[in-house]
Amino acid sequence: MKNLSSLIRPLVRELHGYVPGEQPKIKGLIKLNTNENPYPPSRKVFAAVKAAVDARFRLYPNPTAQVLREKLAKLHHCKPENIILGNGSDELLALAIRAFVEPTQSGEPTTRKGVKETVQYFTPSYSLYPVLAAIHGAKTNIVPLGKDFALPTVSDLKRGKKWQFNAALTFVTTPNAPSGRGYSTADLEQLCRAQKGVVILDEAYVDFAKENALELAVKYPHVIISRTFSKAYSLCYQRVGYFVAHPELIGAVDKIRDSYNVNGLGQVAAAATLDDLPYYRANFKKVIRTREKLSQELTHLGFFVYPSQANFIFARPPKFPAQEWLQKLREQKILVRWFGYPETKEFLRITIGTDQEARQMIAAASKILSA
Ligand SMILES: *Cc1c(COP(=O)(O)O)cnc(C)c1O
Repeated sequence: MKNLSSLIRPLVRELHGYVPGEQPKIKGLIKLNTNENPYPPSRKVFAAVKAAVDARFRLYPNPTAQVLREKLAKLHHCKPENIILGNGSDELLALAIRAFVEPTQSGEPTTRKGVKETVQYFTPSYSLYPVLAAIHGAKTNIVPLGKDFALPTVSDLKRGKKWQFNAALTFVTTPNAPSGRGYSTADLEQLCRAQKGVVILDEAYVDFAKENALELAVKYPHVIISRTFSKAYSLCYQRVGYFVAHPELIGAVDKIRDSYNVNGLGQVAAAATLDDLPYYRANFKKVIRTREKLSQELTHLGFFVYPSQANFIFARPPKFPAQEWLQKLREQKILVRWFGYPETKEFLRITIGTDQEARQMIAAASKILSA
């Protein structure tokens, strides 16, 4: 075959795929780059997963993750019909685009108004949204957040004229990533009320925040809350996330998902997680305490650190450009994340690890500064 690339759709050929944070192969690195939880899952989770390793591997898992959905419905005071599970919330975000947004003719500019084809989000926010929109051939409408990553008010957005109140799908990362800024439910509610299309409030980090906006998914039929077991519940490896929303929107996503999208051990692990919530709530407190301490100590060293309501901080380092710090920290065996976008390139995103890891981070930063 001479020209294999001609067999690939132009859209896919030209696509820039998502770049996940590095999962290093060498040992001994301190991993503060992908917002993983430093604490292990509960012992009950390991016990449940081990107990599930048996002859049932021959069988398909429950196609609707029924046990898990019922437990989540109880936890969130809603019905199982309000909940759908995904292979990580990333899968559900992709399915939502497919369910609610019209693709444009791939490679052709569209002459239509295009609101039915538009995925809208603020910048900076989760860097997966543009990739998912591009894969689908959707249009994007990208609007900057306010000063210090504040959520713009509805009147600000009206005045700015760029925001589309009728976009097919709007993503809001709340708390924001990568800045860590938290948003009040009252402010999110104002935005949701003004939107005519579907709004997804992506609450991947909400367990580390002061408020969550779950009530908005109950109150407004066009609002979806997205949650994940990955970050706060130490379960990245198992890939389990979920949406809470009106049964009609849930039903639409349900129709287009793979029948067995959530693997069996993932379902078992997530269900056992919900049986030991006090363990996790104690971990949230530890992470928050470490976050506040690390923020303070980095500030003493001359970093500018934004207040965070997530399990990471967004900090502008002194003396050297952020990208150089990335390298210098790596030489000290510490991995952090840097995003080269204009609005983020002066900052490092540092995941909150254990207290011990925070001390190692401070020691490395002091060493770099005094070199
Ligand atoms: C990590 C993350 C997710 C996705 O998590 P999954 O592991 O796919 O459940 C979604 N949104 C944001 C903002 C995230 O940071």
